[in-house]
Amino acid sequence: MMTPQQRSAHCGSILNFNADPGQQDDPRAYDFWERGALIVAGGRIESVGPADAVLPLADGNMAVIDHGTRLIMPGFIDTHIHYPQTDVIASGGHNLLEWLERYTFPAEERFADADHARAVAEFFLDELLRNGTTTAQVLGTVHRQSVEVLFQAAAARGLRMIAGKTLMDRNCPEPLRDSPEQGERDMRELIEVWHGRDRLHYAITPRFAATSSVAQLQGAGRLAREYPDVYIHSHLAENRDEVAWIRQLFPDSRSYLDVYDRFGLLRDRATYAHCIYLDAVDRARMAARGAGAAFAPTANLYLGSGLFDIAASDAAGMRFALATDVGGGSSFSMLRTMAEAYKVAQLQGQQLSPLRAFYLATLAGARMLGLAERIGRFAPGSEADFIVLDPEATPLLARRMAQSRTLTERLLVMMTLADDRAVAATYILGTLQERS
Ligand SMILES: [Zn+2]
Repeated sequence: MMTPQQRSAHCGSILNFNADPGQQDDPRAYDFWERGALIVAGGRIESVGPADAVLPLADGNMAVIDHGTRLIMPGFIDTHIHYPQTDVIASGGHNLLEWLERYTFPAEERFADADHARAVAEFFLDELLRNGTTTAQVLGTVHRQSVEVLFQAAAARGLRMIAGKTLMDRNCPEPLRDSPEQGERDMRELIEVWHGRDRLHYAITPRFAATSSVAQLQGAGRLAREYPDVYIHSHLAENRDEVAWIRQLFPDSRSYLDVYDRFGLLRDRATYAHCIYLDAVDRARMAARGAGAAFAPTANLYLGSGLFDIAASDAAGMRFALATDVGGGSSFSMLRTMAEAYKVAQLQGQQLSPLRAFYLATLAGARMLGLAERIGRFAPGSEADFIVLDPEATPLLARRMAQSRTLTERLLVMMTLADDRAVAATYILGTLQERS
């Protein structure tokens, strides 16, 4: 890791968001410098701007790294991903509940073995960095050590990560079942040891309302009140069969969302993956509580779950940001995820502007997670987690890019055609990450 004295300058094209550009590409919401420079000191951003304004601030001893025409931008933030599902990506084409039973639960049972968990955690973090994802909100398995080994591996790499053990005490295979008491004990220990240590954060993680008893959800709510800066992370309204099942399990709740709200699990720093089958009352309540949605288009299409409604979420003032949801999701790449988000909008007669797609993959996630002062954008003092994208990474990308003039055109080409091959470099706290 960098010592505080070390300074370096990075030159290239720079894209940086300060706010949501919305559907109209509000020019005040972002900065783009065709020839920009970023000065990093002690792992933090010292200054950023047009190269001719920023480079004179560099002193003679400073390393200047010229990335040419490549695009320097904040690292991607994946707001919902399951690291234990790394090995079930691209399994079958079944619907959610069947897919859980057939592939996911057996894969998660293997995490009782800490060595297996450690090996998957290392591969998983390599894969995130290869794809330019520098922070993620991650589900472990029911096993406490699944989170411990992930935190250990993330800490060794200096990564900012959010993770939690899943709570499941019913409607799942016996080896994956905890109890309200055991789950709470594990969470307390993990929070005390890991939350706020290095760049790590804990998330209270009931898998979804169907796999936790009332007693367990009550316990999760109690802990969420006791630790207001701890995250809450779960699934909500992904699939029609799931929604019908929740209605049977919780007949007194007006909706699926209401189940979580009743247990005190809807608040700032709460993220719910999918949020497809919500009504206007639900969306308004999510917005009022400050909870956010993880929009995971590759998973929603792969499992045939449904389409996230961007326009309705905007109309309600609801927070949302992009997520891969591997392994229901079919790619670790946030670029591939943006491309699918664009298509999900198209299928509903909506539009997703390319600028906004890049915002949803970076600053939107940081804001939803309450981390915008630290990551997700270039501002003096923010943490220097950034990536360099190569607009000529493949022959087709280079050819199509050569014919694109405006920034919007170039970003659309990038998100439609690029993947991890275009991630030329990933920097964590200003330090280049070696490819494994
Ligand atoms: Zn998920």
